[in-house]
Amino acid sequence: MTSYGDCEAGVRSGMSEQRVLQEVAKQVMACTLCRLHEGRTRAVPGSGLAGSGILLIGEAPGKEEDRSGEPFVGRAGKKLDRALREAGLDRSQVYITNVVKCRPPQNRSPRADEVRCCRPYLLRQIEAARPSVILTLGGTSLRSLTGVKGPLRDFLHERVALGKIPVVATYHPAARRQGVLPRLVEDLRRAKEIARRS
Ligand code: URA
Repeated sequence: MTSYGDCEAGVRSGMSEQRVLQEVAKQVMACTLCRLHEGRTRAVPGSGLAGSGILLIGEAPGKEEDRSGEPFVGRAGKKLDRALREAGLDRSQVYITNVVKCRPPQNRSPRADEVRCCRPYLLRQIEAARPSVILTLGGTSLRSLTGVKGPLRDFLHERVALGKIPVVATYHPAARRQGVLPRLVEDLRRAKEIARRS
């Protein structure tokens, strides 16, 4: 049986993890470690709650995200919201962030040194968010996070992990190929099931 003491401890630890996420967000917003800070309007640390179970990691903020400071609010975000809905999820049940927190010029892919500078922020977010499962959105996210080499298609049905956390490799919602949305929905459902079981 759960004692009141346990409940209190749970709430306290949840709060402090949420506070860690807020602290990381503050650091990200003031960060000048790589050249990407020079062109940003706003840094985009991430959004969601610690302990929400599922962590989604994209590549980098785009124009709309740079303007608003929120991840996935542009065209790709609309697709992501649709996939979440179809998988029976919404943003309150996931934490969303990116490999790099500032928009690269002309939306180019982030460079290795930029990914390296942002990595400590991402790792602290993962530690604080305590996900049961991570979904990497696109090949850049998968390779940057886990260090695997090769194209995304090689990992779509594979078991990948970051330490003990299972990683579901899926498409970036902005990918221009057939079947992206159904695949995204299927992988979100898979992630939901992993989170439910853990
Ligand atoms: N694409 C990403 O990878 N991340 C965002 O936040 C928006 C678009």
